Amino acid sequence: MNEPLSTSAHSPAVGMVIIGGGLAAATAAETLRKEGYAGTVTIIAEESETPYQRPPLSKGFLAGKEGEDALLPLPASWYAENNVTLMTGTAATALDPQAHTVTLDDGTTLPYAKALIATGAAPRHIPLPGVELKGVYTFRTKADSVALKSEFTGGGKNVVMIGSGWIGMEIAATATELGNHVTLLGLEEVPLSAAIGTELGTVFTNRHKEAGVKFVLPASATEIQGSNGVVTHVLTTTGVRLPADIVIVAVGVIPNIALAREAGLTINNGIEVTAGLQTSAPDVFAAGDVANAMHPVTGSFARSEHWANAIAAGKVAARSMLGQDAMLDDIPYFYTDQFDLGMEYSGFGALTKDAELVIRGSLEKREFIAFWVLDGRVVAGMNVNMWDVQDTIKELISSQRNIDTLKLADPQTPLEAI
Ligand SMILES: Cc1cc2nc3c(=O)[nH]c(=O)nc-3n(C[C@H](O)[C@H](O)[C@H](O)COP(=O)(O)OP(=O)(O)OC[C@H]3O[C@@H](n4cnc5c(N)ncnc54)[C@H](O)[C@@H]3O)c2cc1C
Repeated sequence: MNEPLSTSAHSPAVGMVIIGGGLAAATAAETLRKEGYAGTVTIIAEESETPYQRPPLSKGFLAGKEGEDALLPLPASWYAENNVTLMTGTAATALDPQAHTVTLDDGTTLPYAKALIATGAAPRHIPLPGVELKGVYTFRTKADSVALKSEFTGGGKNVVMIGSGWIGMEIAATATELGNHVTLLGLEEVPLSAAIGTELGTVFTNRHKEAGVKFVLPASATEIQGSNGVVTHVLTTTGVRLPADIVIVAVGVIPNIALAREAGLTINNGIEVTAGLQTSAPDVFAAGDVANAMHPVTGSFARSEHWANAIAAGKVAARSMLGQDAMLDDIPYFYTDQFDLGMEYSGFGALTKDAELVIRGSLEKREFIAFWVLDGRVVAGMNVNMWDVQDTIKELISSQRNIDTLKLADPQTPLEAI
């Protein structure tokens, strides 16, 4: 059992303060209690929601197939039951690493022994004429998903998606399944090709086309037009004028670093942290989408914007806050669901650029595992509509053993035997 932490400058009641009410924050609080920490734990959460996870927002929750329960990583009652003070609808406006205090938006200050910044990321905005029109959305929060669910339900709407990344493609799929007419604008010739290459990006793109999604590629918007304050059209860089009832700008996210920057922490594509998620300030840690962490395997910084990272980092941050020797050394993992395509990916994306792509299974049937092999070793693997293989893929990556790519491609050779 860990003793409550305190410093000589603070009362013994001073404990852990977690800024941000997302998945990383909730996981960190849960881990502190699981590790036996008995001191005070306070979560400062800007949104007026019990901490929730975002993946269902663009999938089952948006489609109306999943309810609120699917969003909660911990039951709403968990916080009170575990003596964690959850301050929803409250933003932290300043952090003073010297004084060990956090200032809240009502002007009060909260002392801390250790602080965790888990402020996540916010949608990137583009300075486009017409973005202020009614019917134009970005997409990050439960409120965004609830609003778009009511727009999409019943179908028949013309939806223009600006951005062809994972979130844009997922929302496009859900909107189409609900009977809407979606046109997607993307800067790549083939959506998702920057992440998984042209061949595999084509698998996802073709599935969308089959379902009726239209693509204007490579293209972006030059103007959003409206009438009486309501969106009506989108003009594209290719000179097309698309009818639009709804426009969604999904062009990536920016880490929420304002608090950390003003506190003087080192910023480098997010808050720079060690593998133990320690920032440049003593007793201040960062985790989740906002943190750019040194990865001990690649020896380089990586800022992951994925669900599994928020969980893994929340755990590591909590253990580091307790003075344990913890490291974020997981193999990065993420997943997506688009129409009937379910996908999981593990590996080091940065190492796939010069790697050989090895396919096991059938791209045509959309049942396959794609491996990226660099210098004879698997550096990433992605299974599509094939399940229960992630542990083996991760083992192949972490073992760093030399691989026979012919065997890797042969479905008759058990993966475990390679
Ligand atoms: C629609 C959608 C679908 C996704 N789907 C997938 C998926 O299928 N697979 C996958 O791997 N990943 C997915 N992700 C990514 C995943 O959800 C994120 O990586 C994860 O949410 C990061 O968690 P986090 O706790 O770091 O940040 P967040 O979830 O962003 O939470 C941060 C919280 O901190 C709050 N905050 C910010 N500043 C302050 C402040 N100053 N004071 C107090 N609170 C503050 C914010 O309001 C926010 O509530 C998806 C994301 C979105 C938006």
